[in-house]
Amino acid sequence: MITLALSKGRIFDETLPLLKAAGIEVLEDPETSRKLILATNQPDVRVLVVRATDVPTYVQYGGADLGITGRDTLLEHGSQGLYQPLDLQIAKCRISVAVRSDFDYPSAVKKGSRLTVATKYVAISRDFFAAKGVHVDLIKLYGSMELAPLVGMADAIVDLVSTGNTLKANHLIEVEHIMDISSRLVVNQAALKLKQAPIRRIIDAFASALGK
Ligand code: AMP
Repeated sequence: MITLALSKGRIFDETLPLLKAAGIEVLEDPETSRKLILATNQPDVRVLVVRATDVPTYVQYGGADLGITGRDTLLEHGSQGLYQPLDLQIAKCRISVAVRSDFDYPSAVKKGSRLTVATKYVAISRDFFAAKGVHVDLIKLYGSMELAPLVGMADAIVDLVSTGNTLKANHLIEVEHIMDISSRLVVNQAALKLKQAPIRRIIDAFASALGK
């Protein structure tokens, strides 16, 4: 049995064409099914539906052989023991710093004053601002980061940006582009040895679908 861990939403939707290229079709829609283990047209391949931030953990501990997860999640939650053979170029976005449009970010950074930053990406933010020599107080949030500057709780946020519409709707502007994000295929290293042929077949099918 080959087990693939995926999160619902963008990653799941954008993975379906890659699975199809490997001859794998998921038989149920995670948006309508309550099942957490989805069967595929291949009796020896199944899909686990897990939270995006849990994908590396499932693969690391062998709950799944393979998983697909964002570079943001791998950087923030660690990627120990995971083989990362492919950047799948899906669920693309960027991690950026954003502030209220009336906040003078360049001066705040230049003056060396402390910046309060709300984010769920504490590790990425800490590294980014440390490299710039900017002192930050980080406030960990789990969602709706955009609110924090609007209610005066933070000077800035660090969050994923795709079209920029969410920032615009909340009168925030992007002031720094920290890094580009896309989703990666991650593989459990022991599974890669024990189930080499079927896992290689999936990696190769994904790679050829991506033109690699
Ligand atoms: P947008 O309005 O298109 O810039 O999207 C921004 C919102 O969508 C933010 O709340 C992000 O956290 C979320 N978002 C954007 N891209 C992604 C992605 N690739 N994966 C997960 N969440 C995303």
